[in-house]
Amino acid sequence: MSAGLQVMKFGGTSVGDADCIARAAKIIAQGAHERHCVAVVSAMSGVTNRLIEAAKMAQTGNGSGAIAVMESLRAQHESAMTALIKNEEERARLRKKLDAVLAEGSRFCEGTALLRELSPRTMDTISSLGERLCAPLVSAAVKELGLQSEAVEATELIVTDEFHGGAEPQMEQTRGKSQARILPLLERRIVPVVTGFLGATPSGELTTLGRGGSDYSATILGAALDADEVIIWTDVNGVLTADPRLVAEAQTIPEISYREAAELAYFGAKVLHPKTLRPVVQAGIPVWIRNSFSPEKSGTKITPQGQNIRGGVKALTAIRDVTLISVGGPGIVGLPDVVGRTFSTTAEVRANVLLISQSSSQNDICFGVSSADAQRTVEALRKEFAQDLDHHKVEHIRVDPHIAIVAVVGQNMCGTPGIAGKTFNAMGKEGVNLIAIAQGSSETNISFVIEEQSVVAALRGLHREFGLHKSAD
Ligand code: ADP
Ligand code: ASP
Ligand code: MG
Repeated sequence: MSAGLQVMKFGGTSVGDADCIARAAKIIAQGAHERHCVAVVSAMSGVTNRLIEAAKMAQTGNGSGAIAVMESLRAQHESAMTALIKNEEERARLRKKLDAVLAEGSRFCEGTALLRELSPRTMDTISSLGERLCAPLVSAAVKELGLQSEAVEATELIVTDEFHGGAEPQMEQTRGKSQARILPLLERRIVPVVTGFLGATPSGELTTLGRGGSDYSATILGAALDADEVIIWTDVNGVLTADPRLVAEAQTIPEISYREAAELAYFGAKVLHPKTLRPVVQAGIPVWIRNSFSPEKSGTKITPQGQNIRGGVKALTAIRDVTLISVGGPGIVGLPDVVGRTFSTTAEVRANVLLISQSSSQNDICFGVSSADAQRTVEALRKEFAQDLDHHKVEHIRVDPHIAIVAVVGQNMCGTPGIAGKTFNAMGKEGVNLIAIAQGSSETNISFVIEEQSVVAALRGLHREFGLHKSAD
């Protein structure tokens, strides 16, 4: 498609109620006047959490609790529909669609309650119902503005592996399916509104891409359809110098590189799903982060090279809910395969290792994982090292919850001396205790481990130290 194509993704708050959906529809319509436009939508805000709760209720045998959630979702979507859609025929068509999706949800909840068993596959089916309810609503709102539009389920477009709850796209197949389904719609000037967050295995089984995964859906489709750009519409003005909920003075960054944005996302900046930039790197497709509540603002442009700034540091981020696991003690000195065995064990349980630090005496390897991964990681390590533990070679597997990782990010930090010194100075001034430190060899970030309770002080101190409140907004 050469007439120019943009993929626009709207997050949960950007489709949170009827007013938000009307605003999103207007943005889509404007985009579609300028060039071809494919919209990708998340569930209305809070809906995915409620669906996950419903699935868990069903798992404990509380089927009626789960069905009550389905009914409350029906009321919420019906009320948005009533506010948005005037045409009675369109309402009836939409109601039928919503009914079908909710009936499917209820069936899955009843089955789960009966068996008291919740497979990752069923969890994916239930947790992705929100997107399947939202896309037809947004599509109808676009039609209300006089355009042609069709809701499309991403099971028809995005082909993934079978890893439920965090599936990976298979790009070649995704490209084929997406182009075959979407391009004919665009040629007929029909605006596709696609469900974010989900995909399907080659055999058609529904999968999800992980929490916050609609950003990833947008770039997967952007790459698959050779889009000119991807725009992620959210509830803040772009990528900011820090999480605005923690640092009030945080400023919008006008341009940032793929690498910097990926580091920020990886280290917890919720504005982007960590894998968002992967699909677009090869083609160099720019990704914009913009505010659907202030569409007049230009937002942040994420580009292959970014923009160099004085001082090097672009932004700060933090991941909370980290558990630090240490494998060590004097007994491991000279045990050559401890590092290998440790990390093949974390890989086996698919734990996401966020940071690694090893003391030079080789007495201690410590690494941070999301607390959600901690228990299964520790259990697997205890099993792996059971014999060594018995022989006191690996003397400790220590577990430290309530930890956070803070990252200082900027590609131009490389070659700017003194950044580490300034960072640790600021921590000293704030009285923040550093538990472990790591610097990637790319020198795009310095990350360190602190107690969770010190995160806000650490971020505010660093924001001041690096003068980030002075960035251009
Ligand atoms: P959406 O529902 O649109 O996907 P999210 O809630 O997932 O939105 O992400 C947007 C939120 O990310 C913002 O409201 C903001 O609180 C948070 N956030 C955290 N770090 C940053 C950052 N560095 N820049 C911008 N927003 C950030
Ligand atoms: N609705 C999904 C979630 O809440 C995906 C997304 O919002 O990106 O995780
Ligand atoms: Mg998000």
